[in-house]
Amino acid sequence: MTDCLFCKIIAGSIPAGLVYQDDAVVAFKDINPQAPLHVLIVPRKHIPTLNDLDPEDDRLVGSMFRTAAALAKEHGYETRGYRTVFNTNREAGQTVFHIHLHVLAGRGLTWPPG
Ligand code: 5GP
Ligand code: ZN
Repeated sequence: MTDCLFCKIIAGSIPAGLVYQDDAVVAFKDINPQAPLHVLIVPRKHIPTLNDLDPEDDRLVGSMFRTAAALAKEHGYETRGYRTVFNTNREAGQTVFHIHLHVLAGRGLTWPPG
């Protein structure tokens, strides 16, 4: 997808603080971090929202969550705790329409979220 911000980051045409990549996913630092650790895990495949997932994406979504757990552990938050969030569409605050898993850690996170 040529007109997608996260596809451009994945392609390397827009710089980002990459923290992990493999054949299926790329993870990079959020440009406007909401916690001491705030990374976004995105699939290389362009999928606009969770509503667009196919059964064939089940493995991909699983690898996004396993990557989140690995990054949280790598940064020392495995036991302290961390939050994983997908925002979907307007009322949830989705602003980039290429699915991304937020991983937030390093401060007390309130519940319910705003
Ligand atoms: P959403 O609101 O769609 O759930 O999350 C989009 C996230 O992407 C936001 O947290 C925002 O700060 C982040 N973001 C937007 N533009 C860029 C960018 O150019 N680079 C990076 N690294 N993050 C971005
Ligand atoms: Zn995209």
